[in-house]
Amino acid sequence: SQLTSLIASRTAPFHTFEFFPPRTEAGLVNLLDRIRRLADAPLPAPLAVSVTWGAGGSTADRSLELAEQVVKMGLDVVLHLTCTNMAKEKVDQALGRCRDLGIRNVLALRGDPPRSEEYAVSADPTPDFFKHADDLVRYIRAEHGDWFCIGVAGYPTPHADSENEEDDLHWLKVKCDAGADYIITQLFYDVEGFLEWVKTCISQPIIPGIMPIQNFASFRRLVNLTKCPVPDSIMDELQPISSDDAAVKNYGAQLATKMVAQIIGSKLVPGVHFCTLNLEKSVRTILENLGWSTKADNRPSTSPSPRHNQLIE
Ligand code: FAD
Repeated sequence: SQLTSLIASRTAPFHTFEFFPPRTEAGLVNLLDRIRRLADAPLPAPLAVSVTWGAGGSTADRSLELAEQVVKMGLDVVLHLTCTNMAKEKVDQALGRCRDLGIRNVLALRGDPPRSEEYAVSADPTPDFFKHADDLVRYIRAEHGDWFCIGVAGYPTPHADSENEEDDLHWLKVKCDAGADYIITQLFYDVEGFLEWVKTCISQPIIPGIMPIQNFASFRRLVNLTKCPVPDSIMDELQPISSDDAAVKNYGAQLATKMVAQIIGSKLVPGVHFCTLNLEKSVRTILENLGWSTKADNRPSTSPSPRHNQLIE
């Protein structure tokens, strides 16, 4: 189903999960087990599972394989799709495959240039057909009409390429005018700042990206990479436990629980998007802490529907 229809049919807050495609067959098997456990009672079912896309299409086959397996579980999929350094034909193939699998949701992204080792095997030598995410949104709408519910990325704090917040907000509006239906945000840790940003934003549903802190080194790397400001209070609490991985992980889950409770309590957004980093424990703890009911969710049947069987076999 289309994500915006699923959102409209909900009366309780929802969550989505983001996973990236593992490199090996064994990794895929493990991840699918993890997704199954996270989608199963007593935890509330995710509204959808999103699958990331490697820069320049470097994970195209693996992303589509993971997406297919998640569809087979009876869960709705959002396929991330980047467009920079991607041949138009590769975008067409990915969208065609989504349609074959019955996937109705795409997160349309510009992406970043592939890292050099990936570039050698995956990058297309022809000039970019798509320059920015709005080009991709427009293209999907032109080629596929209303088949896809299209999401785009939003930045509560400016994107690393942006001069200022007004720039980002302007281009976010351009993406929505081009046909985007909803927004998933970049990670953030300043909840007050996020809630202020949401108020100045657009009418499309906004789903905040929540990244539970897993360990201190990866957290520091990520906030540097995304230029995401971190409130002093969080840094002050993290510094003394920074070398104790278990304590940091636990802190990360408690912090994310507080953030989600405050964000959902504001009633400004309908649900949250968990960037899982393919890890199970933190999101499980957060969902248990939040005590979200399994009754209100749209749990799919555990066996694939006949339609899914037809599509996949
Ligand atoms: P754009 O919307 O094109 O914006 C990029 C920059 O250009 C911004 O500074 C913007 O203000 C500016 N801009 C936008 N449109 C225009 C225009 N028409 N003309 C001039 N300037 C413009 N990356 C991956 O590789 N794979 C993933 O699966 C992935 N998933 C993501 C999921 C989420 C929720 C988010 C927030 C990000 C994700 N990313 C992913 C990262 C993303 O690809 C990068 O943040 C990338 O640098 C920007 O992508 P975008 O779609 O926001 O680009």
